[in-house]
Amino acid sequence: ALGASRPRRVLLKLSGEAFGGGAVGVDPDVVRGIARQIAAGVREGVEVAVVVGGGNFFRGAELQQKGMERSRADYMGMLGTVMNCLALQDFLEKEGIDTRVQTAITMGQVAEPYIPRRAIRHLEKGRVVIFGAGAGMPYFSTDTVSAQRALECQCDEVLMSKHGVDGVYDSDPRTNPDAKRYDRLSFTEALRSGLKVVDAAAFSLCMENKLPMVVFGMDGEGDITRALRGDRIGTLVSP
Ligand code: UDP
Repeated sequence: ALGASRPRRVLLKLSGEAFGGGAVGVDPDVVRGIARQIAAGVREGVEVAVVVGGGNFFRGAELQQKGMERSRADYMGMLGTVMNCLALQDFLEKEGIDTRVQTAITMGQVAEPYIPRRAIRHLEKGRVVIFGAGAGMPYFSTDTVSAQRALECQCDEVLMSKHGVDGVYDSDPRTNPDAKRYDRLSFTEALRSGLKVVDAAAFSLCMENKLPMVVFGMDGEGDITRALRGDRIGTLVSP
């Protein structure tokens, strides 16, 4: 068990799609809203690490379908996440929150390299650390990286925010109006049912290492802050 005196530390995954507000690129109003919610959590004393996706720019698998070589397309996807990181950093700093971006692909002019121990120091000092460029490896997803970064940075939970869906359902709520949302689910159940809202690799990594995951919707006002604080929201997937 973790020491009771240690502040709550979480890893928040943000989907890139949300950053675009439904289009390609970054919607500053959306990112400002997200930054405000994160800032509120940080002011309450939560240590927040963030992984940002890049679906608003490129997804490797989609570019592959259109004829690109997968690895190169995946690198484009990873570079897209970095632009989202810089946008989020900008709005967090406007909220007065110290922020560091660390990328898995080094680019010294815009971000620090990913150095886990330094990331932990930043978190301890109350800085938000935003992880960009995924794992720096093709064939991975930012969901999986979220679980990995959470483990390496000793986070208590992974908070998987989702755009357009507010938890794990027994079938796709966009196509089945009778779909039922789970309040709680085990990793084994989540994996067995093949529910696609989060990557299987991310589920397995959390399961093997007994790291709880909360899958929740980021579209409701204040939901990100609630998740950061540890309020019951969305679906808790646990060992
Ligand atoms: N990606 C990758 N390796 C990683 C993380 C991301 O190759 O470790 C690429 C992959 O092509 C992916 C894209 O970056 O499609 C954008 O990330 P993701 O699809 O996870 O973003 P999200 O759906 O969360 O917006």
